[in-house]
Amino acid sequence: MEVFRKKKDLRKYLENECLKKHSIGFVATMGALHKGHRSLIRYCKKDNDVTVCSIFVNPIQFNNPEDLEKYPRPVEADLNILNDEHCDVVYLPDREDIYDHDPDRTVIQFGKIETVLEGKYRPGHFRGVGLVVAKLFHIVQPNRAYFGQKDLQQFYLVRQLINDLSYNIKLVCVPTVREKDGLAFSSRNVRIRRETRPLACKFYDCLVQSRQLLKEGLPVDQVRKFATDFISGFPPLTLEYFEVVDTRDFSITKHIINKYETALCIAGYLNNIRLIDNVFYN
Ligand code: AMP
Repeated sequence: MEVFRKKKDLRKYLENECLKKHSIGFVATMGALHKGHRSLIRYCKKDNDVTVCSIFVNPIQFNNPEDLEKYPRPVEADLNILNDEHCDVVYLPDREDIYDHDPDRTVIQFGKIETVLEGKYRPGHFRGVGLVVAKLFHIVQPNRAYFGQKDLQQFYLVRQLINDLSYNIKLVCVPTVREKDGLAFSSRNVRIRRETRPLACKFYDCLVQSRQLLKEGLPVDQVRKFATDFISGFPPLTLEYFEVVDTRDFSITKHIINKYETALCIAGYLNNIRLIDNVFYN
């Protein structure tokens, strides 16, 4: 496994791979790797000659300084996991290698998608994600990129970025990997205290039960009320949002127009730890 800390060294290596006509797959992460990340690497390895994984805790996508400060950074363990998965190339830049400029200078706006759900509750988050992904795509120049369904709105934002900026990259959505009780793997889960851990899967339970009610014909408004009541039954869990969205433009919807394009999205807190999750309607 090759580990690069500088983009110019990474480029030199990848240009040589391109000369050999090798296809390049890319997985972008912020480290603290878990089974969800492993799954992305496995999907990537299946489709491509060379799998590149980046580990970069992108400071400009954190709207909460405490969240950035507390974000886990177990670099040694991450490299062991990537080695274990036979990842070919790791890009492990420092801040300067990515932002050799003021990151507020050139900004990408995403329109409607950055004003709802995660965009609404985490101001600036998606511009931070968008900028770093745009830069990483230029640095890695992959044929394919793998993003998790776990961050569904981010996936659709990246789809918009690829389309609107004419990147020649095939985007793959990898299904969410979950613990036995349904809790989606997340780097933030290590912060959940043992006493409250059984509550963490209630967001997923809420999504599954809400989806069932929708399928039985309960109107979206009433399902939202069900979800709100459900979460309030499990203090200290608090609900930030529960919405049914049309994934074609990520708009909040009151009616299911196309069941293949509909998803249920939830976000909330377990004490001070923010958790998000989603399921597709179908
Ligand atoms: P992160 O390191 O949190 O930025 O995540 C890197 C990538 O892994 C993103 O595309 C996430 O959507 C994806 N990911 C995170 N958690 C999971 C999970 N439980 N299952 C599948 N993919 C995931």
